[in-house]
Amino acid sequence: MVVKRADADQPHIIIIYEKCDGVGGVWRDNTYPGCGSDVGAHWYSLSSELNPDWTSYYATQPEIRAYWQSIWERHDLASRTAFDTEVVAAEWDDTAQVYHVTLEDVKSSTRRTEDANVFWWAAGGFHAPFYPEDVPGVKEFRGEVWHSARWRHDVDLRGKRVGVIGNGCSGAQFVPKISEDPSVRVTNFVRSPQWLVPRNQFKYWSTTKWIFRHVPFVMRAYRAMIFAISEFYYFVGFSGENTVAQRKGMDEMSNYIRSTAPPEYVDQLIPKYPPGCKRVIIDPQYLESLGRPNVSLNWTAINGVVEEGLELKTGEVVPLDVIIFATGFSLLPARMKIIGREGKSLLEFFDSVGGPSAYLGLSVPTFPNFYMCLGPNTAGGHASVIFNEEVQIDHALQLIKPVVRRTARSFEVRTDVFTRYNEWIQRRLSRSVWSHCQSYYRMRSADGRNVAIFPGPVTLFWWLARKVKFEDYKAVGAERFEKRRRGKRVRTVTGTLLALLLVAAGLSRLGWELPSLVRYALRLGLKST
Ligand SMILES: Cc1cc2nc3c(=O)[nH]c(=O)nc-3n(C[C@H](O)[C@H](O)[C@H](O)COP(=O)(O)OP(=O)(O)OC[C@H]3O[C@@H](n4cnc5c(N)ncnc54)[C@H](O)[C@@H]3O)c2cc1C
Repeated sequence: MVVKRADADQPHIIIIYEKCDGVGGVWRDNTYPGCGSDVGAHWYSLSSELNPDWTSYYATQPEIRAYWQSIWERHDLASRTAFDTEVVAAEWDDTAQVYHVTLEDVKSSTRRTEDANVFWWAAGGFHAPFYPEDVPGVKEFRGEVWHSARWRHDVDLRGKRVGVIGNGCSGAQFVPKISEDPSVRVTNFVRSPQWLVPRNQFKYWSTTKWIFRHVPFVMRAYRAMIFAISEFYYFVGFSGENTVAQRKGMDEMSNYIRSTAPPEYVDQLIPKYPPGCKRVIIDPQYLESLGRPNVSLNWTAINGVVEEGLELKTGEVVPLDVIIFATGFSLLPARMKIIGREGKSLLEFFDSVGGPSAYLGLSVPTFPNFYMCLGPNTAGGHASVIFNEEVQIDHALQLIKPVVRRTARSFEVRTDVFTRYNEWIQRRLSRSVWSHCQSYYRMRSADGRNVAIFPGPVTLFWWLARKVKFEDYKAVGAERFEKRRRGKRVRTVTGTLLALLLVAAGLSRLGWELPSLVRYALRLGLKST
């Protein structure tokens, strides 16, 4: 949560308001056994903060959390962070050109308001644990119950009957870990199958780490290679419908499931939808763990939680000591109220345009100087979201700089630009692999609008966002900025013309006269047509 404060005649300052008491975001909250990234660590990190010391290809939660903590310490962000401070509301004041931001001290529940020129919503998409509405009665349960994102390390699972609801990325990571102990009896309640690929995990040798640290460009080239391979997977797996590559991928993954899971589960475990429609799971030995005598799968729909355990739609009650929800996250900011220039809240704005949408997942019309990280349609199903967030940050900084330098007061994306961009996004999505199944990427509305995925390679996202087109934004109080920009453009054009003239003069000294050069170029052009 980043806000820039407005203090007249003072330099602007950045404040990070964080509702919890430490850094790390999801990597602070998710401490379940086996928690880790499913993108190679060298790419699941900042391009400006490469880390030669990642211990293995896929990093674990403690390592990723330590990585973010170290960045926070190195850049002295402690002096700019207010912990235990939840942003509960922000309202744009068009006259003063600031947001009035309401903050709540999480410990004392006291509130205060601060003004900010720029309001940056960097609350992530995965901080609010989601409990499915069709599994009511949690309070009735006599045993212990928790969500995977709030792991209860104080509860000893030894000798317990544990019900795990869900088989997405989190469930698939911790089921193999908790079931390593044969006294823990795990029943995994699932309702839809997932595509899985083997997790080719390996540790980096100390020599490799030394090379990464000391030999120039090697680590960056290695990172670029991981990036390029992911992009390649986008083109073969995600970019069209029912392509040869997709069918081949389905065959390969089906074979993997057949050869790894117990035969009695195989038919139900192989999905009918194309891979990628839901996030593909990088299998941390989940399929293998299903073969353990203390692990079983249950496909019967759940009716609700009762005192003794889980009641199924068939009326059967499965007695349990512990229930763990591995049911993902609520993607909408439930508590937070952001009000824009027209007095509408962000959620009302989203409702008026058919669901969460933004320009480059970053900015929204009628909300000046408001930016999001990981906003609507930002995630790549195949890639590191850190990359897309960096792209968004670079874009937003180009708009924030004039505000900080006081050459402009606010920027707001134009409605026609926003609409055109989102029509394009939804058109591409409708022809993509993501339209073939219900997933957390899509709203549970009639049209099942996909609000999470950017339907393209991340290189395309970078290309679209790399440079702000200022004509796409409405600017207020930007006369000085516009003047400077025009001046800069004139200087660039003049400089280019001068450079061309110098080159021409140099060439003519060498006997290449300009008219003959033009004639030569024309001849070449005519020949090639
Ligand atoms: C278990 C797990 C594994 C994942 N693995 C991968 C992966 O391998 N690859 C990948 O690309 N992505 C992965 N993701 C997605 C992941 O969310 C992002 O990669 C990354 O965390 C985004 O960072 P962020 O800082 O934007 O958001 P977050 O990490 O979610 O941080 C947001 C912060 O904002 C704070 N906050 C929220 N609301 C408020 C408020 N109102 N006021 C103040 N503070 C607030 C939260 O407490 C949190 O600290 C994973 C997610 C989870 C949950």
